[in-house]
Amino acid sequence: MSSTTIDVAVIGAGPAGLMAAETLAQGGARVTVFDAMPSAGRKFLMAGRGGLNLTHSEPLEAFLSRYRGAAPKL
Ligand SMILES: Cc1cc2nc3c(=O)[nH]c(=O)nc-3n(C[C@H](O)[C@H](O)[C@H](O)COP(=O)(O)OP(=O)(O)OC[C@H]3O[C@@H](n4cnc5c(N)ncnc54)[C@H](O)[C@@H]3O)c2cc1C
Repeated sequence: MSSTTIDVAVIGAGPAGLMAAETLAQGGARVTVFDAMPSAGRKFLMAGRGGLNLTHSEPLEAFLSRYRGAAPKL
């Protein structure tokens, strides 16, 4: 029995496109990622650089405290 390698084009090198590409590649597909911008993940990198990150690598209790009154819902 012969196996076939699938060629996949992923349009958009943001987090969603990169995750999809990684998963496809791990599944054996030959993946090419295209983006209209000159480099990958620009929005996400910009978001982190702007200090606007809502998510942090910290204990859950400290993270939830950032949401004040909404913390119990989370
Ligand atoms: C100011 C700001 C702060 C943020 N802060 C946070 C945060 O703290 N924590 C957090 O988790 N998220 C944050 N985000 C959100 C995060 O950046 C997005 O949720 C994430 O980037 C979405 O990923 P995506 O892959 O869906 O889309 P995008 O990141 O938008 O990626 C889509 C990609 O597709 C490309 N593209 C689109 N159309 C075409 C086309 N026709 N041909 C070729 N390429 C194309 C674009 O150039 C882009 O690179 C923030 C966003 C902003 C704007």
